[in-house]
Amino acid sequence: MKKYTIDKNGYYGEFGGAFVPDKLKPCIEELQNSYREIIDSSSFRKEYMTLLRDYVGRPSPLYHAERLSAKYGAKIYLKREDLNHTGAHKINNAVGQALLAKRMGKKRIIAETGAGQHGVATATVCALMGLECVIYMGQVDVERQFVNVQKMEMLGARVVAATSGNMTLKDAVNEALDEWSSNPDSYYLLGSAVGPHPYPDMVARLQSVISEEIKAQLREKEGRDYPDYLVACVGGGSNAAGTIYHYLDDSRVGIVLAEAGGKGVETGMSAATLTVGVPAVLHGSKTVVMLDENGDVAEPYSISAGLDYPGVGPLYAYMAQQKRAVTYAITDDEALAAAFELARTEGIIPAIESSHALGALSKMSLKKDDIVVLTISGRGDKDMDTFIEYKKASAM
Ligand SMILES: *Cc1c(COP(=O)(O)O)cnc(C)c1O
Repeated sequence: MKKYTIDKNGYYGEFGGAFVPDKLKPCIEELQNSYREIIDSSSFRKEYMTLLRDYVGRPSPLYHAERLSAKYGAKIYLKREDLNHTGAHKINNAVGQALLAKRMGKKRIIAETGAGQHGVATATVCALMGLECVIYMGQVDVERQFVNVQKMEMLGARVVAATSGNMTLKDAVNEALDEWSSNPDSYYLLGSAVGPHPYPDMVARLQSVISEEIKAQLREKEGRDYPDYLVACVGGGSNAAGTIYHYLDDSRVGIVLAEAGGKGVETGMSAATLTVGVPAVLHGSKTVVMLDENGDVAEPYSISAGLDYPGVGPLYAYMAQQKRAVTYAITDDEALAAAFELARTEGIIPAIESSHALGALSKMSLKKDDIVVLTISGRGDKDMDTFIEYKKASAM
């Protein structure tokens, strides 16, 4: 019996489920009833794996970072999701769900996006497969993320500005879900391991190609198919889910999660949901959520748009409760320092999200023989403005 797999109602322990308004229930139930049969079928697997190889560029390398290893006194491998088409792990999920949508007979895709990374991945696969694409994005983010909006439009998507609430990611999700309930013929392509069942499980399965590859690559390089530690950053939890999927029930493997500590969890300006969150329902799932003193969902803060979310996938709420993972809240400054360190020791500029995972290395007590696999979830091109500002401020 696998402990960290959902039960038949879509729960990890007490976390998960599908808390949606009545008008969304038919959409969610249709998906619940069809996703496993489709994504487990051999014809789907074949089509999916072919696109991952020829379009995304998989398998992504497992790179032994020797100079970084020397610094931290352990054998560190980097799983290079930054080398994927569109620059991050998100494309794995987008390709998989778009194929699923097609097999469900859907011709129109709806998605939410925060900074625009998931929106660009979704617009990309919709262009690839000839699907109509509508992306919901908070008005504030539309203004902040000019280039990504231009990319989505160039790829043929329509970008709709969400103008409710704070006009950011949380509001884009709400408006996209609302639009879905009035257009049940559309497919909602969710970008992380969050939301109502079956999304957390489905996204984890589609991203699990990451740990499938890690197993084979470690077997080849180390003669054993497991590391001592896996390290990944967590926003909603999709790159982490992919990294840990095939190791969740393997107690030889330590799991280290890095969430956004912002300006420090004690300042109240963070997105460290696993550190400060409490059990509650957010976006259709029972998980841990950051709440303010009135019990409303708090406005999170992080320098990293991809980690700036007040919830987390239900798998992580359960893993934290079961003490299956060690979580560190990595501050903005720690992540920035880690980004510059990787750039200068290995010649790799990581995404600011992935830099949080790198920031966890100095918190771990590593031994010389430890094998560590750390997922670089994306590349840093999109974060150059942030890096330039940091460099100016610290005169590096
Ligand atoms: C979106 C994003 C994340 C955070 O999302 P998860 O679902 O937690 O993986 C992390 N890294 C990069 C590069 C991203 O674009």
